[in-house]
Amino acid sequence: RAKTDGRGIFRVYSPEMGNKIRRYHYLIEELRLAIASQSFTLSFQPIVNVDDFSIDYFESLARWNHPVEGPISPAEFIPIAEDSNLIIELGNWILFEACRQMSAWHNAGMNKVKMSVNISGIQLKHLPVYEWVTDTLAKTGLPPTALLLEITESCLIHASEKIIDDLERLRQQGVQIAIDDFGTGFSSLSALGNLPVDIIKIDKLFIDQATINPKYEKILNSISDLGKQLDLKIVAEGVEVASQFELVKNLGIHCVQGFLISRPESSYNVGSKVIRNNLNHIALTGTGVCTP
Ligand code: C2E
Ligand code: MG
Ligand code: MG
Ligand code: MG
Repeated sequence: RAKTDGRGIFRVYSPEMGNKIRRYHYLIEELRLAIASQSFTLSFQPIVNVDDFSIDYFESLARWNHPVEGPISPAEFIPIAEDSNLIIELGNWILFEACRQMSAWHNAGMNKVKMSVNISGIQLKHLPVYEWVTDTLAKTGLPPTALLLEITESCLIHASEKIIDDLERLRQQGVQIAIDDFGTGFSSLSALGNLPVDIIKIDKLFIDQATINPKYEKILNSISDLGKQLDLKIVAEGVEVASQFELVKNLGIHCVQGFLISRPESSYNVGSKVIRNNLNHIALTGTGVCTP
């Protein structure tokens, strides 16, 4: 266990830290192999309109089932892929695969639904973003209006002028930009006036707190109001229970994402449930709030 020596200085040696560092280096090597052998999959979670539960878009979420370790959470492997720049190659596969899948779903009739892809700050920094995204759209046949990029608030506020310019050019082609995990990046709300965005995804933290703490309900209300004043679409992340859904709906938030509606699902499950049943609506797996 790390200890302070009384002057607030941390000693860096401890068995647990040794284990963490070993796992970290182990996972970098394993990631490298997994990327080379294309061992990742994508899961898809619907974001639905609060009024009729029609699907606005699917968020693609990376999944890694390691042959020995079993499933490893993206919350663990994405930061490691970012540190090692492996996210560039992995993210390239993710964008291609997400666009390819949505293009196939469009051809199967689910043609009002969009696809969103999480983009890391490392990718923005190292890639010619405009060319990369437009090339991938061209290769997969997905129209730009069917693609949405999710970028965290902290990445967006630190983005260079060149990146902002690329994102603006993509928007002119019809690609939409969502600020992910909004409210956790410590940006001032005034930053919203300058960023190239279409959608605000309010972090789960606010949704969790709002039903139990009236102050958070007020914060949630003012984020959603400001977003609406700026003509942005507002999404509530991580809605798990009916009381959260009711609150969010009463605040006039446009869309919800969360286990209450559906967990992230494999492409096979999405295809069989959504396409075979009722195309642009979600057929429910979760708790029955949204019978189409
Ligand atoms: P995120 O982009 O904010 O994605 C939403 C996360 O919340 C997903 O976790 C999703 O499964 C989870 N979630 C959705 N609804 C609920 C709910 O009702 N309750 C709870 N407890 N969780 C819910 P996941 O798939 O584990 O991904 C975690 C994070 O890893 C993502 O957060 C994103 O930051 C990152 N990530 C995942 N896939 C990718 C990817 O393809 N590229 C990049 N750059 N990052 C990714
Ligand atoms: Mg996201
Ligand atoms: Mg998020
Ligand atoms: Mg998040």
